[in-house]
Formats: sequence, C-alpha cells, structure tokens
Amino acid sequence: MRESEKSMKSADDSRNGHKNGGKAGLLEKIISPQTSLNDSLDGEVQEFLTDESQLHTFDDLTKVNPVTPTTVLKCLQARYRAQVFYTQAGCTLVALNPFQPFPDLYSLDMMKQYHAAPQPQELKPHVFIVAEEAYRNIRDQLEPLNQSLVVSGESGAGKTWTSRCLMKYYATVAASSSALKSQSTVERIERRVLDSNPIMEAFGNACTLRNNNSSRFGKFIQLQLNSGQLLVGASVQTYLLEKTRVSCQPASERNFHIFYQMMRGATDEQRREWKMPLNQSFDWLPNSEKQIEEDVFEETVEAMLHMGIKAETQRHILRILAGILHLGNVKFSSPGEEHQLCQLPEDSEESMQTAAKLLSVPAQEFVTCLRVRTLKAGKQSLLKPCSQSECRVRRDCLAKTIYSQLFEWLVTFINNSICADKSTWSSFIGVLDVYGFECFHVNKLEQLCINYANEKLQQHFVAHYLKAQQEEYVSEGLQWSFVKYQDNQSCLDLLEGSPVSVFSLLNEESRLNRASDPNMLRVRLEKELSDNPNISWDKFSRVPHFTVAHYAGKVSYQIEGMVEKNKDPVPAELMGLLQKSDNPLVCQIFAGMESENSTTRGLTKVTVVSKFKNSLESLMSILLNTTPHYTRCIKPNPDCRPLTFKQEEVILQLEACGIVQTIHISAAGFPIRIPFKGFIQRYGLILKHLKMGKSSDDLHVDISPQQEVEQLLSVVLNQRSCDERCSLVHCG
Ligand code: ATP
Ligand code: MG
Repeated sequence: MRESEKSMKSADDSRNGHKNGGKAGLLEKIISPQTSLNDSLDGEVQEFLTDESQLHTFDDLTKVNPVTPTTVLKCLQARYRAQVFYTQAGCTLVALNPFQPFPDLYSLDMMKQYHAAPQPQELKPHVFIVAEEAYRNIRDQLEPLNQSLVVSGESGAGKTWTSRCLMKYYATVAASSSALKSQSTVERIERRVLDSNPIMEAFGNACTLRNNNSSRFGKFIQLQLNSGQLLVGASVQTYLLEKTRVSCQPASERNFHIFYQMMRGATDEQRREWKMPLNQSFDWLPNSEKQIEEDVFEETVEAMLHMGIKAETQRHILRILAGILHLGNVKFSSPGEEHQLCQLPEDSEESMQTAAKLLSVPAQEFVTCLRVRTLKAGKQSLLKPCSQSECRVRRDCLAKTIYSQLFEWLVTFINNSICADKSTWSSFIGVLDVYGFECFHVNKLEQLCINYANEKLQQHFVAHYLKAQQEEYVSEGLQWSFVKYQDNQSCLDLLEGSPVSVFSLLNEESRLNRASDPNMLRVRLEKELSDNPNISWDKFSRVPHFTVAHYAGKVSYQIEGMVEKNKDPVPAELMGLLQKSDNPLVCQIFAGMESENSTTRGLTKVTVVSKFKNSLESLMSILLNTTPHYTRCIKPNPDCRPLTFKQEEVILQLEACGIVQTIHISAAGFPIRIPFKGFIQRYGLILKHLKMGKSSDDLHVDISPQQEVEQLLSVVLNQRSCDERCSLVHCG
C-alpha cells in the first residue's frame, strides 16, 4: 500500500470508528493528549490528504484530513497567515489572538450581520456565532434554557478580550434601552454592564511578563434577559484575586493598574491630599516608567460614576489606595534585643503617619499594632514585640487584606448597581473568563487552585460533550455503541476527594495551630497519598514539593508557605483598629470580617482552598444546568507580537486544552446536525419535485418534519447502502 493510501485509511478508520467497533480504542488513544501529540510531533510527519494550498479555507478543523496535531497546527497557521483568526473545531471555537486591532471584525455592522443571518453558522467562524447561537437557543426555548459561554486559554491568549466582545454583542443586539424609552434607569443598563469591565480591570488586572493587561482574578458574569430576550441586568461573581501582588510584585511585573492610573492621572489637589507628588517613588509601584494602554485613570473614574459610585465614595476609595502605597514605604529596622521594639527610620515614620492619616486611624496605635503581637493565654493577654520579619509580614498582610476587601466591596457595589430584580428576568447567558492552566518555575497555592479550577472545567467539558453527543444519538434511535471515556476524575479525587486528599491534608495542617513546617505537610502527603498514581515526589530535591499529573501536564508545587497562605491570617489587633477607622468605607469593608484569633478560640476559619472549592462548586452547578458553548483562545507567540505564529507555542496550547481530541470526537460523530425543519426548508423543493410524479395516495399531508425528512430521504436514497442512509437520516 502506498504511504498516502495508508494515511487515507487511518484517517477513514478514525472517522468511522463507530462503524467498525473500534471506537473505544480510538477514544482511549485520543483522550491521552500527551501520547497523541508527542507521537506525531517527534515521529513521522503525517502526510496531508488535503491540498495544503487550500488549508486556510478550512473553516472547521474536523474537515482537515487526517486530523493530527501537525495537520491541525498547519491549518491554523495557514489561516493565521491569511488573517483568519477564528476556526471551528467541532463543538469548540478556536480563537487565535492577532495582537493587533481589527476593528472591522468587531464593528456594529458585523454584529448586525451575524445577528440577522438566517443561519449564522454558514457565515465565517466568529465569536459572534457563539454569541448568536446561545441567544437563539433562548429564543427557541431549547433546554437547558440558560446558556454559558466558557472562554479559556493561557495568559495573554485573549479571554478577557473575547468576553468583552461577547458582552458588547449582547449589549448591542439585546439592548433594552431602545425598547423601553421612558425608563431612564433601564436605559443605562447596557452601559453600566459594560462599565463594570474597566472598573474590575483597573482593580483586578496588572501588567505581567505574559500580558500587559493580565486578569489576576477569575470572573463569571451572568447577563440577565427578560422574556423578550432583552438585556435587563447582570451579576458578577469573581474568584481568587491574586492579592499578594499588592505587596509583592514578581520581577519585571507591576502592581494592579489602578495604582499607576492614580499616579499618572491625579489632579494637583488629589496629589496634595494623597501626599503623592509627581516625583514620589513607591516601593510597591515597580516599573512605573512603563506606560501601557490601560493606564487611563479618567476612564475608571467615569465608569465608577456611571456605576453610581458617588464622588465622595470615590474619594474614600482613592484615599485607601494611596494609604496602601505609603504603607509599602514603611520599613522596620532590626531591634538590638529580642524583647525590644523594631524601630522606624525617619522617612518611614513620615510614610507611617501619612498611611495612618489616609486610612483615618490613629498613627500611634497603628504603628503599635504593626510592631506588637497580642498573645492570648486563657483569659490573659500577653504583648510580644514582633521581629523585623514579623513586622513586615503584618504590614503586607494588612495591605493585602485592605485591598482584597476593597475589591470585594466594589464587586458587591457593581452587583447592586447592575443586577435586575429576579421578577424581571427569565433567562441568562453566563460568560466565564477564568485563568488558564499555569505551570511556572515555582508554583504555589495560587497555581494549585488555578489548575484545580481548570481540572474542574475540563471534566465538565469532556463529560458534557461526550455524554450530550452520545445521548443525542441514542435519543434519535441511531445504532451507537456507547463510548466509555476516560476523564480526569482520579486527579480531582487526589486534589479534593474525601476522606483524604491534598486539600483535606492541607486544611488539617492549617487548622492545627502550630508553627508551619513544610516538612510536616510533605510527610503527611507522602504517607497518605503514596498509592495515588497522580502524585509524585522527587526524593532527592532539597525544596519540599509535590508533583501532580494534571490532564494538561505535570506541575510541581512548592510546599513551603502553603499552609500559612491557606490560613490567610489577619492580625486581630490590626483588624480591630481598622474597624474603628474614621473613613466610613474602611469600617464598612472590615465589618464582620473574621480575624486570626477566631481560630485560636476554636472557631474554624474558612481556609483559602475551602473557600475556593465552595465557590467553584457553585459555579459548576450553575454550568451543569446551562447549555455550554466553548471558546478556546490561543496565544500564537509568547511576546505578544502582532501576527506572529510560533508553532512550538501553539502546539503546547492545543495539547493543554485537548483540541485535537475534541476534533477527533466531533469527526468520529456526526459533525453536521441540521434540525428537521431546517432540512425541509433547504431540501424540501426536491420532495415537492418528486411528489409531482406521484399519485395522490402517496402524498401525505399533516406529517411531522421528521417523517417528512425520512420520506424525502427514502425516495432520494433508495439506491444507497443502509449505512449511508442511516448516517444521513441522523443528520436530523
Ligand atoms: P490573562 O489570563 O492574562 O488575563 P487573557 O487571556 O485575558 O490573559 P487578554 O487580556 O484578553 O488575554 O488579551 C491580551 C491582549 O491581546 C489584549 O490586551 C489585546 O491587546 C490582544 N487581543 C486579544 N484578543 C484580541 C483580538 N481578538 N483582536 C485584537 N487584539 C486582541
Ligand atoms: Mg484576562
């Protein structure tokens, strides 16, 4: 057999696996991303059966022949070169980031074109098709009625851009303001929903090595539609803000945008109030010379005003932020003796006074709280001077807590401002923009949580897609041997399962009120989880860590600092002080917050992983009750260079999000599903034409669309083989 015939046969085999009983084998192969990708990358290069000069014309990757990582990669590259950035991959839309504006691609005209198209799927692949499909599913009352648009991809791939695009699409095509002219509050709702973006991005995004506008939190926004499918409100849920960035910015990265916006955009009066002259330098504002597009203070201020955050409240917010910056300039010098207090150098004394003033707390008490710990022993309290490093930890902890509480307050405010009354909306479209899978040189608790979230979403994707597709075949009476699929349940069991898992052991260690020793957790993990194939250790490594085999690859997590971060303690004295602040916003954001001492009194403070797990579980239960739509954003090069496609970058991302498997599954099934009515609309003429030669006995009036399709096919296909007929019938 010639080489090309061989690959033709293998491609046919993979497409027709369901017919020859080889489906389970095929799926086992394709579910293992590393094997399939490495095989074809390192091994023989598969020959294309498709004309390579035409690759850019393939709107759907299921049509590329054969489907291998190499062919998929080449096809995406050819399209990227031709400036085509969207490609369908079965049930998923692949979006390649152009790193260059293409305004015509997202213009109002374009939105109208997709919205008005009788069959948007017949237009060029676009994120507007995803948006429109979800919108029409609601219009057509398809179950489950509520929709979710899951946007994934690595940092800089374009998730936030895509989410904004989707929101703008609905704010345009589902605008209620034109319909409800008299209601001024309703008139502004689309605007306010869109204004939530610049606010949350100013406070939650930062310039990182991977993306100048990197979201440092996850976001799920539910766009609420009334019975006429008009946008009447929205609600936002955020996940795990990376608050450590406030006091510790990785090398060459920056703090959250809002601080730089203030520095650049403040009025003279504000500068005086914040003690922030133009030449002032702040330790927590590194790389401020780097100007980026997002440094627009006026836009944030305007968006806050539209959102209903009054000038006076904005003043309080900005004073808090300025206070945090001054706090970052406070240093502590080492005391001579253990029982002595750490001293503040002269310039730090001034920063301390300013920080206290801006946070509206008494300066003397503030500095004492930073330098002295209160130890509780029964009913007695002991005061103990903190070491230099303890003082720094308390200062940083305070800054992180103030900032994250302020962020939560903002999200609540936004929700109060844009959320519609439950009685006024009947369905929603959720847009999920969460951090992608992360694997750095050093991975900490944040990466563990992020990758756990990605495992959850991957499980949802695989289960939903394989299950839903197969159930559809069964419900349509198609002969179909139900495919068993491997999912990532074992990795999830390792992370979150009961009775023993990484999270349960981490939580137990965090609740034991003892000094953190990374080896304790390491010993327990090794002892209790040694049988689990998804976890491993490098016995010779000096830094305690554990390695998890995630669906997207292995990641080693550093154990040091994990327990402390999971406890997320806030010194009780500092919290008590802030709860008494004269800045009403400071009091408000700390009202009812738990402190470190609540754990020592035997109460169980919710740990970071428990809180994250709970919020993720409620997200998953929302997603499970919606019709999902997936968009996988791909970052074509690591340097964010316009129109530059690096194969080695892209292939890793295709591997991580399992695109090739998705295409195989779609290709093994039936990629085209035309509803019966659509089929009649399109091909009904043939039936009419055929019926013309028939007697009136053969003409059935009042038959269902399905019967009509069957009638049409039985006439047209009576010469064809049973198998082919079967496949065609189930296009319905
Ligand atoms: P992170 O996980 O770090 O938040 P992200 O996936 O949200 O990353 P974005 O911030 O959406 O990434 O995109 C990074 C940058 O890429 C954007 O700031 C924008 O400049 C550019 N970009 C993304 N998508 C597009 C697009 N469709 N057209 C033009 N530019 C784009
Ligand atoms: Mg983002």
